[in-house]
Amino acid sequence: TESECSFSRVVVIGENGVGKSALSGIFAGARDSMGSNCDLLGDDTYERTLDEGSWSQEQCMQAGDAYLIVYSITDRASFEKASELRIRLRRTRQSEDIPIILVGNKSDLVRRRQVSVTEGRACAVVFDCKFIETSAAVHHNVQEMFEGIVRQVRLRRDSK
Ligand code: GDP
Repeated sequence: TESECSFSRVVVIGENGVGKSALSGIFAGARDSMGSNCDLLGDDTYERTLDEGSWSQEQCMQAGDAYLIVYSITDRASFEKASELRIRLRRTRQSEDIPIILVGNKSDLVRRRQVSVTEGRACAVVFDCKFIETSAAVHHNVQEMFEGIVRQVRLRRDSK
């Protein structure tokens, strides 16, 4: 029933062009098609580019119940940016145990890869969060990414 719904805000952050809009678009589609299953997919997705200024970086860091930190496996600078964002998030939300997944997107572009799976995974270990590689273009692991973040939100919620 309505009263049992609890909403979470998943914030998608990362460098320009890494695929945040593409991933969020798939998420919105999945949510719409599952409609009434509000506990699973009643989540709002918010996607703002940090340097666009529509939301300040500070607001982004405060706004989320869960975060997808996205980089492109074809863009090393975006991988470095992801680490920066993770640090900033930790600083802003020090005492909170926030669900985060580090997402290496564009896994379909194998010949343009600049960041290995091993590096991605190692980074996630250092930053104490989950890791997944996705491709918004061919919908690889996108569902798994959404399920992963929802699962983590639920785990945190249930343990309170
Ligand atoms: P944003 O700036 O992070 O929101 O990035 P966009 O979602 O706008 O994507 C930037 C560009 O990368 C667009 O041309 C997308 O079509 C493309 N793109 C996004 N995800 C993928 C992917 O998984 N694979 C490939 N090949 N291209 C992608």
